[in-house]
Formats: sequence, C-alpha cells, structure tokens
Amino acid sequence: MNQTAQIVVLGGGPAGGATALGLKKLGYPVMVIAESRPFEAVEGISDRVVEGLRNAGFTQALANLPEPSPRLASWNGATNSANTERLINRSQLDKGILLDLEAAGVTVIRGRVAKTVAQDHGYQVVLKDESAEPLHADFLVEARGRSAPGAGLERLRGSETVSLLQRWQGEPCKPQSAAQSFADGWAWMAAWSDGTRYLQLTFDVATADLPDKAGLIDHCNAILQTLPSAQPFLENAIPADSIHARTSTPILCREAVGDKWIRVGDAAMAVDPLSGNGIFQALSSALQAPAVINTLLQQPENAALAKQFYQQRVDHLFFRFARIGRDFYASEQRWWDNPFWVTRRNWPDNEPLHQDTDPDSLQVVTMPVVSNSLIEVKEVVVTNDQPLGIWHLNGIEMAPVVQALQNRSENQSPEHCLQAQLSMRPDMASGLVGWLYRNGWLKR
Ligand code: FAD
Repeated sequence: MNQTAQIVVLGGGPAGGATALGLKKLGYPVMVIAESRPFEAVEGISDRVVEGLRNAGFTQALANLPEPSPRLASWNGATNSANTERLINRSQLDKGILLDLEAAGVTVIRGRVAKTVAQDHGYQVVLKDESAEPLHADFLVEARGRSAPGAGLERLRGSETVSLLQRWQGEPCKPQSAAQSFADGWAWMAAWSDGTRYLQLTFDVATADLPDKAGLIDHCNAILQTLPSAQPFLENAIPADSIHARTSTPILCREAVGDKWIRVGDAAMAVDPLSGNGIFQALSSALQAPAVINTLLQQPENAALAKQFYQQRVDHLFFRFARIGRDFYASEQRWWDNPFWVTRRNWPDNEPLHQDTDPDSLQVVTMPVVSNSLIEVKEVVVTNDQPLGIWHLNGIEMAPVVQALQNRSENQSPEHCLQAQLSMRPDMASGLVGWLYRNGWLKR
C-alpha cells in the first residue's frame, strides 16, 4: 500500500486525537495542528468513555483521572442519586491527548489554523502565526469541534441552545455533581475537592430573553438560588471568573466526508450536552474515520462506498442521541407549554428510539463494513431496529446463520439446523439460538 500521503488533522481534541492515532497505526505520516481550549471547562464522563479513550490509545490523557463521584439528578420533581460520573478538567485532558500523540510519533504543531485553501493536489493549511510557512495536506481531517467552519455544507440544526458557564470558588469539599431542570432550561453543577465549582446553565437562545452581558451573572445567580440541588455548590462560594458562553445546539453535518477530507467528532455531529455523551460520540466517528480515509486514499474506486458507510453511521448516531434527548426532555412535564421544553420534546421527529425486532423484518443484504482497515462490501443482516446491519456477533458471521434458519424445514430445531448447515458446535449453536430468541430474531 502507498501510505505516503500527508494527512493533516485540524484540532487536537478527543476526535482529532483518536483519528490521528488510528492513522498512525495504519502507517500514515500524520500532523495535528491544535490550539488549546480558550476557556476552562469541566465535563462529566462515564466509565464507558474512559474505556473508549483507553481503547483509542490514550494513556497520558487519562493519567490524572479522578475517581467517580456522586451525581444527583433532579428532573420532573424527582431526585435520583444512584449515578456517578468522573469530573474531568478538559484542558488537562486535551494537553494529555497531545502528549499521547507525540509519544506515538504524530507531529504536533501547537497553533491556530487560520484557513485552508483547496489546491489541485490537496490543501494548503495557513496558520495564524504569519511567520509560519503554510503547510501542505494531501488529506484533511476537520476536527476543530464546534468551532469548525461550516464550509457551506448542509447542516441540520436542532433548537438553538446556549450554555453559560461560570467558575466559582468555595471551601474544599467532596467532589460531586448535580443536574436539575428549571422552567427555562437545565443546570449542571460540579465541585472539586479544592473547592472549585463549575456552574452551567443551558437556555433556549430564541426564547430565554437573556439580559446583556453585564446582567448575565445576576440572572444566572437568581436562577441558581431557586434550585435546591444548587445550594451545596453556592454555599460559602463566590464567582471567580466571568461567564463563558458555549453554543450547545445539536448540529448534524449532512455531508461529513469528501474525496480528500473528512469531518470527525463535533465537526461532523455535535449532540446536546444533556446526553453527557459528547466525548463518546466524538470517539465513535473518530474510530471509524481511519478505515474510511485509508479506503479513500488506497482504493479510490471504492470512494462512494466509504462515504456511504461513514455518512450512514454519523447520521444514525446523531439521530439516536437526538431521540434519547427528546425522550428525556419529554419526561420533564412541569413546564409543558414553555418553549424550551416544547421544542426539545418534539425534535428531531416522532420515531421511536428503538423498535422491537420483528423476526419477519430480517433480511440478508450487502452493505459496507470495516474489514482489515478498509471499507468493503459484505453480506450483513438488517432488521427493522438495526438498519445499518450486523455482520459479526462475537466472531460469528450472521448472514449465513439467518439464511440457514430461514431455509430450515419446519420440524428442524434452530440448534440442529445450525449444527447441520454450518457445522456449529452444539454449545455454540445453543448459545447463539438463545441470543436470537432474546433479541427477537427468532419467534417462539
Ligand atoms: P473538541 O473537544 O471541541 O476539540 C476541538 C479542538 O480543536 C480543541 O482543542 C480546540 O481548541 C481546537 N481548535 C478549534 N479551532 C481551532 C483552530 N482554528 N486551530 C487549531 N485548533 C483549533 N461531553 C461529555 O462527554 N461530557 C460532558 O459533560 C459534556 N459537557 C458539555 C457541556 C457543554 C456546554 C458543551 C457545549 C459540550 C459538552 N460536552 C460534553 C461535549 C464535548 O465537549 C464534545 O462533544 C467533545 O469535546 C468533542 O470532541 P472533538 O474532539 O470533536 O472537539
């Protein structure tokens, strides 16, 4: 394979970092250009995200990972304290990501990308630092998160949303976080053992009627004072910084990949922070991107297939998170007619999050999958609930399984069919048949 193409990744957050590590493993020379986050932010991550970061190859980024701390959720008048999350300092995580990249042999340039210019054979990347020579990229990975330029691409946007965050300083305390809904939005609060608190309020841009910058602190403070779960975070604490606004509108890029570029992470699809899953979804697209890029560069004849594979996954993931968010907003019923809640419980559509699998919907079709770090067509099984298809289950190809079962005679048990047709061991056949019944692929 010819792997000499120079790939430049714009942005060094979780998505840009994971894509760069994946490309490096495939043998490509990769360069990441990243400037550090211009504001302090704390985010909550689950163990699933930690595992995702570790599997992507990050170690220094996870070096100072705190233990999980309690998370209180007050929603629709009920309070739940069963969950935990790890509170991470995003600047530290991002710094660790760049160290991991350097350790893996990725060239890291700490600086700001000013613009990219399309050329006959790739792109010219111009840095803000005018003394720096423009760089050449054969292939561009756009990973500048929500700051990535729209580039004139079609984008689907949910209700325009803004999150206002402010750092407060209080007395040392046990690390903890809390989320609570209020009439015009929802709040997320986090406290660190050193007494630092992060208070974040999320509003609807069109209807929140927010005051100008000078009045924002008082406005947010007045709301926080009304929230019971905010009180431990405000007690003996004072504002230690000005308010920083982060746009948090859900945005899906309807064209996330071209012949010589791809968008990953928030640049491809940014979800509502209510899900607390932004880093997870950023990693999901970034983990698929290297195989897509590899196909575009090594097998341009399969470009359409690779693009179809990637866009379908980005779309699918976005709508899944959007529907999870919609159903969660709908579960808050106290401010039913308030525009914040009306728009969010009705977007993006009325499709159910999941459908019960209908055994009659099972079909064997050919679809693009990742195989040997390339996108290739394989026979997969699609169901009404899994439109992107399932190729393998624990190493077992599912298309031959479904074909064998669909062609079996009426008096043959599924277990015997799999043993006879696919030479499957009895214990394996019985375990698989159990899975097929549990997941609605076989009727009782
Ligand atoms: P980013 O992490 O945004 O990385 C992009 C990188 O590109 C940054 O380092 C940036 O500095 C750099 N960059 C930008 N422009 C340039 C430029 N011109 N030149 C060079 N570099 C540039 N997710 C969670 O999992 N848990 C949470 O609790 C959570 N809370 C959130 C709260 C809010 C209010 C918001 C808006 C988001 C939240 N998220 C949360 C989502 C999470 O922040 C993102 O989904 C995730 O960071 C996306 O990763 P990324 O790599 O795509 O982009």
